[in-house]
Amino acid sequence: MVKAGILGGGQLGRMLLQAAANYPVETYVMEDDEESPAAHLCHHFIKGDIRNFDDVYQFGKNLQALTIEIESVNEEALERLEAEGVKIFPKPAALRTIKNKILQKQFYTEHSIPTAEYFVTADLAAVRSRADFLPAVHKIGTGGYDGRGVQILRTPAEIEKGFDAPGVLEKLVNIDKEIAQIIAVNERGEIAIYPPVDMVFDSRLNLLDYQISPADLPQNILWKIEAISLRVVKELKSPGIFAVEMFVTRQGEVFVNETAPRVHNSGHHTIEANYSSQFDMLWRVILGYPLGNTEVILPGAIVNLLGSEGCEGEAHYEGLDEVLQMDNVFVHIYGKKETKAGRKMGHVTIISREKQDLVHKAHKIRNTLKVVSK
Ligand code: ADP
Repeated sequence: MVKAGILGGGQLGRMLLQAAANYPVETYVMEDDEESPAAHLCHHFIKGDIRNFDDVYQFGKNLQALTIEIESVNEEALERLEAEGVKIFPKPAALRTIKNKILQKQFYTEHSIPTAEYFVTADLAAVRSRADFLPAVHKIGTGGYDGRGVQILRTPAEIEKGFDAPGVLEKLVNIDKEIAQIIAVNERGEIAIYPPVDMVFDSRLNLLDYQISPADLPQNILWKIEAISLRVVKELKSPGIFAVEMFVTRQGEVFVNETAPRVHNSGHHTIEANYSSQFDMLWRVILGYPLGNTEVILPGAIVNLLGSEGCEGEAHYEGLDEVLQMDNVFVHIYGKKETKAGRKMGHVTIISREKQDLVHKAHKIRNTLKVVSK
């Protein structure tokens, strides 16, 4: 049986393990927290620091394949493991490009992939010297996650909210829609592409609010989105699963925002709404099986279940009964013991032939299901 490891033990790892249960694979997870969402679903849990060279190297050296559920892993160890014959999804070289937003932006420009105009900034002083470029978005090169490394700078006075670290200063795009496109690539270079997803954001938390799939866009924009995301994965030259996040403007321009080299929050609906889920698909890639069918069974929506404001402590789920009574609604609780404001605690997927029904139920679920503390 193939021994395969996942670096990181969060909800993405947990859902990957749920899909792994259908395949002949022995699963290993490394993560610091023994109570993490993935810890109890794998065959072997190894406590360790995914950012530490020795921990990652020791974890991976007896495995045939490794994947990640978060980018902040020690890529030097992955490079060594790759050189020693362990298959890594994505390739460490692709991960290195993506992990650093400066390198990632440069990768898009080098390959003529449309992305918002930008400057590389070494520190906050460099941002100050580009005040004429505002309104812009300042993004930290490494270490940002879930909006924490991103600041919108509209006026020169706001520059002080920026980061005194290497990053990029990017033109503020007048966004009409944020779209994510999930694509799988196997070791033979064959590609499976999911229908794009329309992501709707909570501007206060800078976190995904809900999303609808397939995105409702004119055919010419859909073609642009597909061509651009195909180009991104082809140029990354790595097997694995990728989520290409894009901005669509009112003028119909499409810009790549960023790419995740792993399963992604914008693909959770594929568990119920598509024939092969993103998690199932990644195992097909890792284990060398034929790619799955990405077609939509029914349109889907996802509502993220975030810890309620002002609640910190042991998690309780209010309104769960009511939501579980709704038709074609699927609840996923990630098993995190502790909640805090804005923490991703689970998600709910809705499937329906009618887009209106999806939106209606998404709002109802948001107003009904709450993660609180006792
Ligand atoms: P993270 O990696 O933390 O998710 P992103 O780069 O995706 O950060 O940025 C978070 C959000 O900030 C985006 O989803 C988008 O809403 C907004 N944003 C990012 N870049 C721009 C931009 N150039 N113009 C307008 N809004 C942006």
